[in-house]
Amino acid sequence: MSSVSALPTRLKFWGTRGSISVPGTGTLRYGGNSTCIEVRADGEIIALDAGSGIRSLGIALEKEFQSQPIRLSLLITHAHWDHIQGLPFFAPAYEKKNEIRVRGYDGVDMSFGEIMAEPMKAPFFPIAMRELSARVEIKKLTEMEFCVGKVQVRARFVNHPGICAGYRLFTSAGSIAFLPDHEPYRFLHSARTNGMSPEQAKKTAPEERIALVEFLRGSDILILDAQYTDTEYESHVGWGHGSVSSAVSLALDAEVRRLLLFHHDPSHDDAMIDAMVHDARQLIRESGKDLEVDAAREGEEILLPADHTNSPK
Ligand SMILES: [Zn+2]
Ligand SMILES: [Zn+2]
Repeated sequence: MSSVSALPTRLKFWGTRGSISVPGTGTLRYGGNSTCIEVRADGEIIALDAGSGIRSLGIALEKEFQSQPIRLSLLITHAHWDHIQGLPFFAPAYEKKNEIRVRGYDGVDMSFGEIMAEPMKAPFFPIAMRELSARVEIKKLTEMEFCVGKVQVRARFVNHPGICAGYRLFTSAGSIAFLPDHEPYRFLHSARTNGMSPEQAKKTAPEERIALVEFLRGSDILILDAQYTDTEYESHVGWGHGSVSSAVSLALDAEVRRLLLFHHDPSHDDAMIDAMVHDARQLIRESGKDLEVDAAREGEEILLPADHTNSPK
């Protein structure tokens, strides 16, 4: 029988791509599937987002657990397709023995329950959410701090079109921050600035960034939107995503231990992502500070040391 309680905390990337899946020879190393991460910590299985990568996670779990029940929590950051479109293809949802708790926040005009049911409505999909055989419990989050078993979770709304959360998981072996979609506060998205004058919004931007730095401070792992090169970002201001230098500067200011560039642009092949990692390392060298940086790779596992303690203060 498989056990999920073994320490240390383990993280696995099942999907690293932003916007849309891009399988092909150019994306073999960093991966073509859209957002999905698995975290095993303190006896819990936590999936972060349900992009196309969640299909492979489901296959791996079925193989591991076989006839044993799978109990899993799925935290959703927001409703864009690349973060939810894999859920109808998550095999454990079709097995009676399994229990899947899906959590996320209401959107601007739609409840979390409606958002999650939408992709499985006719004519888009042949099986409705309510027909799934597993015990699938979809519940909206109303607090910005909550627990998944012994794992404490803090959430924060980030700068992206619509409602989009970032999560920080505090495990007994360290903390993991997950902000797959986030644009630097230089451009403020409307869900955050409704009713504000441009002057107010300008004043708010530095305050929002300070609050985000505090939210991330001391994270062992930061998985962060770095979709664009700095040059590309200049022609994509307002699209909701970050750049290499904005990701590096946020990670340096928050004194995180390891930064994983994430939400790879569909037009970027492996060589392009290598070049972005090179640029990020150059920026870190110039800062004279310490920070490990890599780009998230589909299939890669990261272990957090079991002797490390990091709980919310
Ligand atoms: Zn996205
Ligand atoms: Zn998005």
